[in-house]
Amino acid sequence: MSNNRIVSGMRPTGKLHLGHYHGVLSNWMDLQRNFECFFFAADWHSLTTEYASTDGIQDSINEMVLDWLAFGIDPEQSVIFKQSRVPQHAELNLILSMITPVSWLERNPTYKEMQENLTTKDLSTFGFLGYPVLMASDIIVYKAARVPVGQDQIPHLEITREIARRFNYLYGEVFPEPAALLTETPKVLGIDGRKMSKSYGNAIFLSDDAEETRKKVMSMVTDTLRPFKRDPGEPDRCVAFTLHSLYVDADKRAEIVEGCRGAQLGCVDCKKILAQAMVDTLAPFREKRVELAEKPGLVEEVLAEGSRKAEVVAKQTMDDARAALKV
Ligand code: SF4
Repeated sequence: MSNNRIVSGMRPTGKLHLGHYHGVLSNWMDLQRNFECFFFAADWHSLTTEYASTDGIQDSINEMVLDWLAFGIDPEQSVIFKQSRVPQHAELNLILSMITPVSWLERNPTYKEMQENLTTKDLSTFGFLGYPVLMASDIIVYKAARVPVGQDQIPHLEITREIARRFNYLYGEVFPEPAALLTETPKVLGIDGRKMSKSYGNAIFLSDDAEETRKKVMSMVTDTLRPFKRDPGEPDRCVAFTLHSLYVDADKRAEIVEGCRGAQLGCVDCKKILAQAMVDTLAPFREKRVELAEKPGLVEEVLAEGSRKAEVVAKQTMDDARAALKV
């Protein structure tokens, strides 16, 4: 493995929430200090499920990239680009689709799961079945050495590695098999106790203002077995407390645990502590985001510049791939 390159993308779903921050963005910030990073808005991936209503995709990219920039993903340090601006992703996707057995795609666990869960959409399309091939193209078109993944995404990366191996076997060594860079992805719960997700309507967004944040925190589910303040509570059963561990320091948390179990601290006061800690922690980011949002064309400029840089690398790879293919 000859390079220090990382590739990671995010589907544009609009404004990011705390789950994206703790699950992806905080890792990206660490990675950009130590690796040559390529971060992209995966707008073609959006088409695999949103092909019938594409109106919101551009706005979603704008909101998402504003969050990236405000949080410190830095176009001077990382290549930040839009997938659809680098046509080599599609070109390689076509070539890889010729060599990828359908059985590999059908056994992808996400394929069946998503088809069953997204019942309002017809996902019986060629593109949806083939999205792991597009994902493989996204990664190997940069000859990435590593891909940051959570434990649950390892099967996806395995398909990428298998596809790269098959190409190399058929035509000669072109693509390094990218290794998994396992990243910590804490499960962030939404205000109703389910996994935080925009589609569940339970998300606290990175760009929510202080008042909105407080309102959402105050409506968070607590220990449901503690109806009154006079009843002892249990932080381990409390949804709000999962966020205390991300925003409130250890000493204060120890006090909260004692106060909750001893029935001295009420949930309203406890959630006020959380809301204040969250508002204070996120304030610098939110100020920065408001400032960046006032610069018209900023996101477009960053993506155009990043896409130009990405294309230089992707073109080189495609020259190598075409030479190996002899077509
Ligand atoms: Fe949760 Fe705090 Fe209420 Fe205990 S006091 S149940 S930790 S909100």
